[in-house]
Amino acid sequence: MSKVRVRFAPSPTGPLHMGGVRTALYNYLFAKKNGGDFILRIEDTDEKRFVPGAQDYIIESLKWCGIEPNEGAGYTGDKGPYVQSQRKEMYRPYADQLVASGHAYLAFDTSEDLENMREQAKTMGLANWQYNGVTRSSMKNSISLSKEEVENRLANGDPYTIRMKMPRNVDIKLHDEIRGWVTVNTNNLDDKVLFKETGMPTYHLANIVDDHLMEITHVIRGEEWLPSAPLHVLLYDSFGWERPKFAHLPLILRPDGKGKLSKRDGDKLGFPVFPIDWMTAEGEKYTGYKEDGYFKEAFVNMLALLGWNPGDNQELFSLDELVDLFSLERVGKSGARFDPDKTKWFNQQYLRSTSNEGLAEMILNEKLIEGDYSVEYLASVCGLMKERATFIKDIVSDGDYFFASDIANYDEKTVRKKWKEDTPEIMQELIAELSSIEEFTTANIETVFSAYLAKKEYGFGKVGPGFRLLVTGKGMGPSMFDICATLGKSTVISRMEEGLAKVNALKNAAQA
Ligand code: GLU
Repeated sequence: MSKVRVRFAPSPTGPLHMGGVRTALYNYLFAKKNGGDFILRIEDTDEKRFVPGAQDYIIESLKWCGIEPNEGAGYTGDKGPYVQSQRKEMYRPYADQLVASGHAYLAFDTSEDLENMREQAKTMGLANWQYNGVTRSSMKNSISLSKEEVENRLANGDPYTIRMKMPRNVDIKLHDEIRGWVTVNTNNLDDKVLFKETGMPTYHLANIVDDHLMEITHVIRGEEWLPSAPLHVLLYDSFGWERPKFAHLPLILRPDGKGKLSKRDGDKLGFPVFPIDWMTAEGEKYTGYKEDGYFKEAFVNMLALLGWNPGDNQELFSLDELVDLFSLERVGKSGARFDPDKTKWFNQQYLRSTSNEGLAEMILNEKLIEGDYSVEYLASVCGLMKERATFIKDIVSDGDYFFASDIANYDEKTVRKKWKEDTPEIMQELIAELSSIEEFTTANIETVFSAYLAKKEYGFGKVGPGFRLLVTGKGMGPSMFDICATLGKSTVISRMEEGLAKVNALKNAAQA
């Protein structure tokens, strides 16, 4: 068997949507699993929809996800160039070959001609006019016109396109690795333009020629390309080339299951749709998963399960494990519903499984806090905060009291409900108890605190909330003994002393 070669072939018409990243991921997994090549080809034959910067964005996105091509645009390889506009000259002979073999023809109709036909059809009550085996004889092309007229037009330099001569009433059968056999009758297909007046091939021709020249063995792409597949296999057959295997991936659906997830849904529904930030030419910014604080591992893990399943209940996979387990047989046919909450859950799982030191390094590298903090200090903060956090930024924001010189805000509800008349006095006593501790460790703080409760016959609820409020400003959080040990004795004592007056003032103001 020939070496597996797959390609991801995006058009640079905008930023890469997460559906596109999933297509790239499945191609990557399939290639690695089968010891094959993963190629990036940029399909920029649609000049009108070309968006500057999109190609770099695609390359950067794949890099961030850790699913880099080993050949293609932005990489090396001996089947390049890998950007279709740079291959422009290569396609014409193939279009000519199809004309010579009778599989395609020249069409001289102007866009006004085509528009008129559509209008006429509409007034006759025909919804969808098509250029096909029925209508082509009434159009201006090398089949309907005399040989002489065609030659005259060519000599005259009349612009023309090259169209596929779709045969009538032939059942095209193609095998899809995910969907099984698909049969389409050519009466439902039109004479697609293969080569444009501009000298540029259309997507269809360029795609097939390149897949052939680049020796692609498996075409793995989104379901939206399934309707084009019959034309594509017909092109392979017309050239006399071996067809690659096809696999059309299921759609990614909106969280409510109603329709395809679109680029606009993200902003409307409040989650990223793009892997990394994208800035439009008009200066509009779309937030990426990366900048929103997601781990690439979580993003990739989530995407892998959006259409594929491992056959059991395991949900957390490293990229290597995915490579090991991936198969097209386990990709589903029906649309996969995107779940933003589940995506957060994945992030939480990765956050929890990252070492405290690892998280500390990330906080430092990403400059998430101002000030000079040691890895050791940050690691102990991460250890305390990570169970409650979804993103690293939550550790810094929920644990702001670890990075503040004093407490600026006290949780209003806790002040109102838990700061009782005798709390100031209890806090004074607690300050005295804590001050007596020589080695300010979690265990020692806990021992002294418990002994104080026992001595006074207080329940935890009488002392705990006030203690937490003074030291952190909050009503909830991790163990106070751990927090205090991390903050250190002098910070804890001074916060409690200063806080007493401040919280008393708040309480009085609230009561007045
Ligand atoms: N250029 C097409 C796209 O933008 C590629 C389709 C295919 O993979 O054949 O998705």
